[in-house]
Amino acid sequence: KMAKARVIYWFRTDLRLYDSPALKAALDLNAEAFWPIWTWDPHYVYKTRVGVNRWQFLIDCQNDLSKSITRLNPNSKLFLMREAPQTLFPKLFRAWKITHLVFEKDTDPYARDEMRYGRTLWDSDELVKKNGDKPTMSISQVQAAGPKIGPVPKPIPVPTSMPDPGETTLDFEQEVPEQNQDLNEGYREEKDKSYENIAGPNGDFAVPTLAELGFPPATTPHRGGETVALSSLHETTSNATYTATFQKPKTAPTAFSPQSTTLLSPHLHFGTLSVRHFYWAVQDVLSSYKGKEKASSPPTSLIGQLLFRDMYFGAQAHLGHAFSSTLHNPKCRFIPWHLSNHPAPTTTTTTTPPSNLTSTSTSTYTIDSPQAEAWFQRWKFGRTGFPWIDALMRQLRQEGWIHHLGRHAVACFLTRGGCYVSWERGAEVFAELLLDHEEACNIGNWQWLSCTAFYAQYYRMYSPVAFGRGWDKEGAFVRRYVPELGALDDKWIYEPWKAPEMELRRAGVRIEGDGGSGEREDVYPEPMFDFAERRTLCLEKMKKAYAVGLYGDDPRVLDGSWEVL
Ligand code: FAD
Repeated sequence: KMAKARVIYWFRTDLRLYDSPALKAALDLNAEAFWPIWTWDPHYVYKTRVGVNRWQFLIDCQNDLSKSITRLNPNSKLFLMREAPQTLFPKLFRAWKITHLVFEKDTDPYARDEMRYGRTLWDSDELVKKNGDKPTMSISQVQAAGPKIGPVPKPIPVPTSMPDPGETTLDFEQEVPEQNQDLNEGYREEKDKSYENIAGPNGDFAVPTLAELGFPPATTPHRGGETVALSSLHETTSNATYTATFQKPKTAPTAFSPQSTTLLSPHLHFGTLSVRHFYWAVQDVLSSYKGKEKASSPPTSLIGQLLFRDMYFGAQAHLGHAFSSTLHNPKCRFIPWHLSNHPAPTTTTTTTPPSNLTSTSTSTYTIDSPQAEAWFQRWKFGRTGFPWIDALMRQLRQEGWIHHLGRHAVACFLTRGGCYVSWERGAEVFAELLLDHEEACNIGNWQWLSCTAFYAQYYRMYSPVAFGRGWDKEGAFVRRYVPELGALDDKWIYEPWKAPEMELRRAGVRIEGDGGSGEREDVYPEPMFDFAERRTLCLEKMKKAYAVGLYGDDPRVLDGSWEVL
């Protein structure tokens, strides 16, 4: 006779109850005891730089999920475990006599195992297979390979019940070596401490607060949780015309409260919204749409946006760790950026490296341009002196989300269209600050914008002045995020350095140096370089790099002999 199942359901990338194939698989085990848990991985907490806004969002998701679980079973909730899964699970398995651990499949190389896929329209590994065992590098490949797997699965209903959890005591008695009974006292103390470390300050596995994590209050207005996600999706799809005629390039990056796209990305990231639910909700609108305006289609439509997402997951699934960097990545072009994370060219080769090469540390170096690190810092903190770029970077820092075309603007500017800094440095900043940070999408889009993969039209460059102005002549967006320029006339809002002294005085703003560190409210920086000059230089350099045509897995890149070219 089979023993009754004792199940841990590990919520990781799917903080929801609706349409969760993995959760359904776990519930189908008809467990005698069922613990829904989230491991508060200290590795994630302390080692990765994650901005306070994303912590807030995660905590929102956990609170909402916990409440929903309790609604299904008053004896249950989301149990927050404050320990890394690697060390926690062996203890839990023993103490709770666990027979099954179930969780959602992930393309992140950190966590691949036998799991149920649930994060994408199609299983990413299957998608790769149907793409001839190659990473999906274009949306048309996804459009061809996806349907070969079959139609996107329809959402699974919310579970109607959940078994009771078993005891949550963590008995570490077995860890006391019998021959060391006299040390028992010490072990007992250790044991209590260990329990508290795992179960939280009140020993009840509660969702932590930002204060417990040692963070100040968050600054983002965007909130998390499945309840918010479902109502946001509903709001989007209730507007049939908007949903059916959505064309990404026609949505304004300067629109804020409300923004012009769905802002569902953070919910997809935390899995509070199922992407298949999103897909079918849009398809349902499309199938009954009878509006005057023609319905849109991929790649610009909403369905097209979801296909892009699957494309990046497919690329990551195939390339694994190599996907996230330049080095070792056979699909990523090697560009000798001014500032980058690649190892500096070695001096061990017979040729001497260029004399204008300055090593700043073992992992970063600057070449050609000693100012590049300063430019990077000014970009990061929204102090470049280009109001359009600064407004976007400040929106990112304050709110954790910027529009896709806004991301285009700042990513192009940092890399091939201005600073000539490696996309990897930019991706790190996004990883810290975005609410929707998704490794596959972030890395893939940075490669796209820097023309190192997915996209190659490097001669198409965004102007940090004309791009924003084209969307928002009056500069309402800039005024919102760069308040020191708030009173400036429309004419100068994108180029304050050109404003006459009289106008600056009237508007109460001074344009000065690097603008200091932002403590002077009336001072805004001068532009950090002449964009026209940089544009020409970047184009020349990109052209050369393209002509040489090295990729991240080239031996000359890996052994540092690339500078001879
Ligand atoms: P909508 O336009 O409403 O699209 C609906 C959904 O489609 C989004 O929620 C998202 O899941 C998906 N989607 C849309 N565009 C893309 C795209 N280009 N690539 C992948 N998925 C897409 N998106 C992330 O989810 N996480 C990231 O870390 C991320 N980093 C990015 C970095 C850069 C440099 C750039 C240029 C783009 C990045 N994107 C990222 C893609 C895109 O900008 C966001 O998904 C989108 O702006 C989210 O807003 P939305 O939900 O309103 O999108």
